[in-house]
Amino acid sequence: MPGNNIFDIPIQNLKYFGEAAVKKLQKLKIKTIRDLLYHFPYRYEDFSNFIPIADLKQTSQATIRGTILKAKNTRIFRRNMVLTEIIIEDDTGAIKSVWFNQPYLINQFKPGRQLNLSGKVVLNKKQLCFSNPAYEITSYGENSYNKKETLHTGRLVPVYPETYGITSRWLRLGIKPLLKFASQIPDVLPEEIKKIHYLPNLSYALSQIHFPQTLEKAQWAKRRFAFEEMLVLQLFMRLERLKLQKQTAPEIKFDEKLAKKFVDSLPYKLTDDQKKSAWQIIQDLQKPLPMNRMLEGDVGSGKTVVATMAAYFVALNSYQTAFMAPTEILSRQHFEKISPLLKKFKIKSGLLTSSEAKISDGKTTKKELIKKVAEGEILVIIGTHSLVQKNIKFKNLALVIIDEQHRFGVGQRAALTKHKTIPHLLSMTATPIPRTLGLTIWGDLDLSLIKEMPKGRKNIITKIVAPSKREETYEFIKSEIKKGYQGFVICPLIEESEKLSERSPEGREVKAATKEYERLKEKIFPNFKIGLLHGRLKAKEKEKIMTEFLNKNIDILVSTSVIEVGIDIPNATVIMIEGADRFGLASLYQFRGRVGRGEYQSYCFLLTDSVSGKTGARLKAIESAKSGFELAEKDLELRGPGDFTGVRQSGLPDLAMASLTDLKLILETREAAKGLLSVDPNLKKYPLLNSRLAEFKNRIHLE
Ligand code: ADP
Ligand code: MG
Repeated sequence: MPGNNIFDIPIQNLKYFGEAAVKKLQKLKIKTIRDLLYHFPYRYEDFSNFIPIADLKQTSQATIRGTILKAKNTRIFRRNMVLTEIIIEDDTGAIKSVWFNQPYLINQFKPGRQLNLSGKVVLNKKQLCFSNPAYEITSYGENSYNKKETLHTGRLVPVYPETYGITSRWLRLGIKPLLKFASQIPDVLPEEIKKIHYLPNLSYALSQIHFPQTLEKAQWAKRRFAFEEMLVLQLFMRLERLKLQKQTAPEIKFDEKLAKKFVDSLPYKLTDDQKKSAWQIIQDLQKPLPMNRMLEGDVGSGKTVVATMAAYFVALNSYQTAFMAPTEILSRQHFEKISPLLKKFKIKSGLLTSSEAKISDGKTTKKELIKKVAEGEILVIIGTHSLVQKNIKFKNLALVIIDEQHRFGVGQRAALTKHKTIPHLLSMTATPIPRTLGLTIWGDLDLSLIKEMPKGRKNIITKIVAPSKREETYEFIKSEIKKGYQGFVICPLIEESEKLSERSPEGREVKAATKEYERLKEKIFPNFKIGLLHGRLKAKEKEKIMTEFLNKNIDILVSTSVIEVGIDIPNATVIMIEGADRFGLASLYQFRGRVGRGEYQSYCFLLTDSVSGKTGARLKAIESAKSGFELAEKDLELRGPGDFTGVRQSGLPDLAMASLTDLKLILETREAAKGLLSVDPNLKKYPLLNSRLAEFKNRIHLE
């Protein structure tokens, strides 16, 4: 019930927050006192050391305290601005401070008032002077120095992520008075957990994360909140696992001779990793416990055939398999690959997407297909996630295979059958997941890895290209197309835009891609067929364009980052990525995977003008990386975990996300979750934790 708890009070009920501010905050998803108190600074400015004015030097950061001697505004017509100047003195000396274009400041800077300044000291006309420092009036009186706690100067000052025009200064003023209510807020973390894991209580942690006395205390507070989020995540995973352990799944019999028959039917030899993964899957399927396995392997490493082998065994046992892909084209490509493999063994398969229904042994209609699945005639059904989940009733589903989707709960699985048993689950991903991350997010999944590529694959030649070499790159693309190949041009976000329709990141992407498409079509590649793909297109239109490209009716496809994962265009040999520095490594890696899928030598060009620092390191990593796994570890090192699509999909809160590399915290929270649930499996004693868990589940399912 809102208002029940001080935490739930909407911010518009507070005097400080005007209508405009409330709107801005809502954009940051801050609606209640709790949301605001949980809006944490991402760093602190150390303004805590006061320096006597006489000791000041030219420096990027210094803090002083003194009394205002003089103050004035000067209009500088030539440069069309207002300069606010004050002279401030302490016992040791005096110094000037200036601000630009904030004439209203003068109302605060009355001579005689005391204030703190923190900021940059510059040399101006051979005199030291503060330039645009943070300021804070500490006393309005004549002589007395006010001991009131400062917020913006003279301490560790919180710096918040500033978005939608909400400044840190404003947030500090808004948050500070709320902290006195913090002690009335019930703490989600059980006392014994805080004791064992040495964590501060909620109100102390809140005050220290916003206005820390020392950095150590801020760190301690942060750890507590990370612990809190991670604990909820671990509780969630443990409960899912417990739920799963109570379920049974069909036992799939294995026969070595039949395995050999399948392997012999393939036009190539399986790699050792493929064999090992297939073996691990088969082992799982033989047990009455539901399998929960992730098959992870680079783009093109051959996951589909491994999954097909699992479907093959399931079919030999007269059970059904649902094979789900994120898009129609991918579903179709899977069907085209899988159905001939199974047909050799007289196993019938079908394809169901919103635009078509196919069956391995002839024509069909949707209705007929759905009926044949219900009757158990079709044993392997391939289609898009939602379609299969919504429209199909299986006779006896034993295996669900999911391509490129990372979360699939026990509930969803159970919903697919009317039987007491639930199907085994095999998820597949080409998103390389570093070990610690995998352990955290998919801690309840078993993992099979395909690390080696099939023999004879050519590495994609990857080059960082400076904008000055753009023309050469275009020439190269032309020469590839003249040879009969195809190419991609990927466009990044452009700068903030004024137009409303372009204000969202997606809108800006669309604009960039559309502009680039027109330019390329008219100026650069007038003699070729150019296509455009972006996120504002309907799914149907996207499918149509991808199909055109697949059918070689388009030579060059200009696209935003929506370009689909997993899609196979064997004839595409070149991809040019504009503004490569604006994409994360994981995205770049996925983009690059769009080429090099056939037998031809392929190329990836990363256009950027920043090759120094971290960005440069990132791009160099992709230039030299041979495998996604190698890259994943690198990216984690360089950027932190947030960039992984898989992680984003996991619905994790920010702080938990930031802690995904903290193995110690992961293990500690995992133990804590285990401990809590072993004595109290329904969390009856911990209603707060329980409701937090419910919120988390809700968020995950809403996505
Ligand atoms: P992904 O792991 O990205 O889903 P696919 O399963 O689509 O990769 O496989 C990519 C291509 O490699 C397919 O054309 C497939 O037939 C082929 N392939 C799979 N395994 C092997 C292998 N062991 N040797 C040679 N080619 C293979
Ligand atoms: Mg695939």
